Amino acid sequence: MPSFSIHGVGVSSGIAIGRAHLVSNALLEVVHYQLTPNLIDDEIKRFSEAIQTVKHDLEQVRAQLPKNAPAELAAFISTHLAMLNDKSLSEAPKDIIRNEQCNAEWAIKQQMDDIVEQFDAIEDAYLRERKHDVVQVVERIIKVLLGHPSQSPSQSKEKQQQENATILVAHDISPADAIQFKQHQFAAFITDVGGVTSHTAILARSLNIPSIVALQRARDLINDGEIIIVDGTLGVVIVSPSKEILAEYELKQDQWQLEQQKLQRIKSTKAVTMDGTGIDLYANIEVPEDVITVKASGATGIGLYRTEFLFMNRREMPDEEEQFTAYKHVAEAMQGMPVTIRTLDLGADKQMNPDTVSNCANPALGLRAVRFCLSEPQVFHTQFRALLRASHYGNIKILIPMLSNLTELRQSKILLERAKESLRKEGTPFNEKITLGGMIEVPAAAINADAFARELDFLSIGTNDLIQYTLAIDRTDDAVAHLYNPLHPAVLKLIQMTIQAAEKYNIGLSICGEMAGDIKLTRLLIGMGMRQLSMHPSNILSVKQQILHSQIERLNKQVKKLLNLREIEKIELQVMELHAEF
Ligand code: PEP
Ligand code: MG
Repeated sequence: MPSFSIHGVGVSSGIAIGRAHLVSNALLEVVHYQLTPNLIDDEIKRFSEAIQTVKHDLEQVRAQLPKNAPAELAAFISTHLAMLNDKSLSEAPKDIIRNEQCNAEWAIKQQMDDIVEQFDAIEDAYLRERKHDVVQVVERIIKVLLGHPSQSPSQSKEKQQQENATILVAHDISPADAIQFKQHQFAAFITDVGGVTSHTAILARSLNIPSIVALQRARDLINDGEIIIVDGTLGVVIVSPSKEILAEYELKQDQWQLEQQKLQRIKSTKAVTMDGTGIDLYANIEVPEDVITVKASGATGIGLYRTEFLFMNRREMPDEEEQFTAYKHVAEAMQGMPVTIRTLDLGADKQMNPDTVSNCANPALGLRAVRFCLSEPQVFHTQFRALLRASHYGNIKILIPMLSNLTELRQSKILLERAKESLRKEGTPFNEKITLGGMIEVPAAAINADAFARELDFLSIGTNDLIQYTLAIDRTDDAVAHLYNPLHPAVLKLIQMTIQAAEKYNIGLSICGEMAGDIKLTRLLIGMGMRQLSMHPSNILSVKQQILHSQIERLNKQVKKLLNLREIEKIELQVMELHAEF
């Protein structure tokens, strides 16, 4: 068998070499057959029993989750259980069986196709990807109906004993399956479908094994038992590698593993440059359960808690109590370390419920983030009250997203003061000295950063949006993804202006966009004067390593020169050299 490679999207770095374990795709096995009327009731019963079996299996998986399992897993399994309880999956197929006199597998597949079609119409990329959850749940039901309930890798235990590493090759992988696979210690997993924000991708990162999604036809092209190499960093799968390639990757894999082990050694080391400058390395989180990963990462605080995730996939806004509980949980878990909680950043690609399709022409330029909150003062008031109440239990800082003018800031402050006043009246305790920060993510705010710095306690640069708005590139649009460049001189100038404004007014400044977690940019950022970087917890140690091997004084000089360059290519070259040095 000649060697060949398949390219996808790497979602979790690292290298794995092993034998392919193909997970069958039950959906492809569904056939359609007609039933005589006397068999309809039995078929409906068979369907109901399959639903119950799947529920029971998922509940067991959830109950048996190991203590160190990523928090997302329990949440994903609960989502799948909730879907099983939804009438559109548990009841509607019964009507199809009855009306069309067809088999249960066919009925549930028809219903799934219908639901998926509705998801496809959703503009919000995150919510659209939730259709994969529906498909995964339906796959489980069909597997039970077809009589092979679980694709548990325990079936291939013998094979696993013969081979050290097994790589899961699937069309798609459900979270519930993934946890079972974790227990069986798969070395990597690769899938045909899934985007970077799919649950598969989120899980892959939290399980910390190399993974690639969007390989399109990997399941068709790879044979069960075949040797494959997964390079999660480059997003490449090499099938049936030659001896030479195998040897080369074995070496690479050893080096990678050694580096990861070495990194663990600096977990409790302070992030200080060789010439003594301390850098705060904070984590970005989306849900309260993420604090477990944060604590394991060596982060010394949370630099960005994106609260909008608490508001998503539901029809009603979370009330004050629910928000208070979530914020308090994070504050307490972080035991006095800073916890920067961002107020609601709904809008653009982050819509609240799955049925909402933004009808404005340019949602990223529309009623988003602070603009939305100011248009719904009650929503803002409730969140401020919840945040203030939680501030009594830890070191909470409040961060306002997407400010573009001072009026927005001042109106937000009035509302914050109102929330404080209402708590004072009730005698509810909160931190009277709570600090307020603003995100710099709109070019207008960066150019005018000193005005914001004068009226705020700290600033945080959201480079994801700052780049989007500066370079006029929709960050969700693949067609212009190649133009998204953090090293564009205009972007660097705006960051520089923000740093100068924060220095002038002597206030805190952090950077919390994806730039902060990119090790190729660490030296550039600290050389520019950044002292707080907030990123996905999995990046903390490798960024720290860069810091430990850097000299601020030298970097300052090199970066100063680099900032005078006008061409992106020249800047890129210099930044590469900066990264490779020392
Ligand atoms: C950013 O824009 O850089 C940021 C951190 O916010 P988000 O990615 O949530 O828009
Ligand atoms: Mg943003």
